Amino acid sequence: MTLDYNSLLIALAVSAACLAVTLLGSWFARRTETFLLTCTIGLVLIVSGIFAYGLYVGTPTKLLGITAFVFFFPGFAAAVGAGYQFRTGRLSCRMMVVAALAGYAVTIPPMATGYDGFAFIAENTVIASLLFVTAYQYWLARAEAPVPLTGITALYILTAISFVLCASVLLADGKMVLGAAPSNWAEDLSLAICIASMTGIGALSLALHQWRLAARHRIEATTDSLTGLLNRRALFDQYGSGEMGSTSAVVVFDIDHFKSINDTFGHAGGDRMLRLFADELRANCRVGDVAARLGGEEFAMVLRDVTPGQTELVAERIRRAFEQRQIIFDGAIATCTVSAGVAPGRPTPVPFDALLRAADKALYAAKRAGRNRVELASHLHAVPMETVRTGS
Ligand code: GH3
Ligand code: MG
Ligand code: MG
Repeated sequence: MTLDYNSLLIALAVSAACLAVTLLGSWFARRTETFLLTCTIGLVLIVSGIFAYGLYVGTPTKLLGITAFVFFFPGFAAAVGAGYQFRTGRLSCRMMVVAALAGYAVTIPPMATGYDGFAFIAENTVIASLLFVTAYQYWLARAEAPVPLTGITALYILTAISFVLCASVLLADGKMVLGAAPSNWAEDLSLAICIASMTGIGALSLALHQWRLAARHRIEATTDSLTGLLNRRALFDQYGSGEMGSTSAVVVFDIDHFKSINDTFGHAGGDRMLRLFADELRANCRVGDVAARLGGEEFAMVLRDVTPGQTELVAERIRRAFEQRQIIFDGAIATCTVSAGVAPGRPTPVPFDALLRAADKALYAAKRAGRNRVELASHLHAVPMETVRTGS
């Protein structure tokens, strides 16, 4: 079977155009992922370049050759830009302009002066370099989604190598003046690889996009948006069905007279106070500990690997630190206190929610005893055993 070069070029242009439309659609669905838009713009430029190059294959004039270059370099520069933008979240226009201008500088003058052979060697070299840089961007970001990102990296590298081959074959021929579009096995191979990679990169980019969406939704579903702590649901997902042994403990906190903060400083002032307390909890979490906002001005902390008596000290430290902290709101100073109930785990493991309820009871004992204090759930033993076992 012989490969018809022009049919392959059309296939490449069509697959690139389809990919551009798909990426544009994904971008519309989630406007914050601007790397998809950058990719789309790059693809549109590349498709335009492919059309110009297709015309050049039929009629190799300088003007058509230069036109193809004019589209190709910003197109591939945009691919680099999209990779960089995916990894860092920033668009570097300067990087893209420099890349495109570098391409122009080494290809347009030789093409214009009749050294088309040299121009194509330079073109393949620059495009290969840009593709390697693009591959590197996705490789650096691979931790986010290892499977699609490693795949994308591999396909960009494969495509880059095919351009290296094109440059090498032309260089080995050593003709600086061709008078026609380069035609050799490397060109055919490169075109086939481009078609395959384009499809693969397209599919993987969409997978990547979905991966990011899913990860974001997971985070949104488990995080309290005001404080950034875990929310109630996430806390129960993590511990709800588990049992707590003697090295674990649960603390429940409730800010004292919080309603009066809201009344005096407004809801925004209250929100700032909630964030301040959340910061205090975070600062006192060791690795393995978890802090969550149960709702309103109620928080919980689950501690692991604690020794007897240690949890009360942690709660007391938080209580004291919070008492000292203040926010300045509309020129006035606001301070607050917090009450806490501590329920240490027991040698006989207890369901998480039973321990949480015990901590809650201790909290209300702290409230009754005058607030701004930590109360220990010594009455945990008094909770009827069947309630402790089954929870409710
Ligand atoms: P106590 O010392 O007995 O705990 O008194 P309190 O005023 O803290 O308790 P109460 O439960 O009566 O009031 C809690 C208030 O918290 C009522 C509600 O308007 C407020 N609140 C709940 N969620 C939020 C929130 O997200 N932001 C703000 N600013 N206020 C909230
Ligand atoms: Mg309160
Ligand atoms: Mg409350």
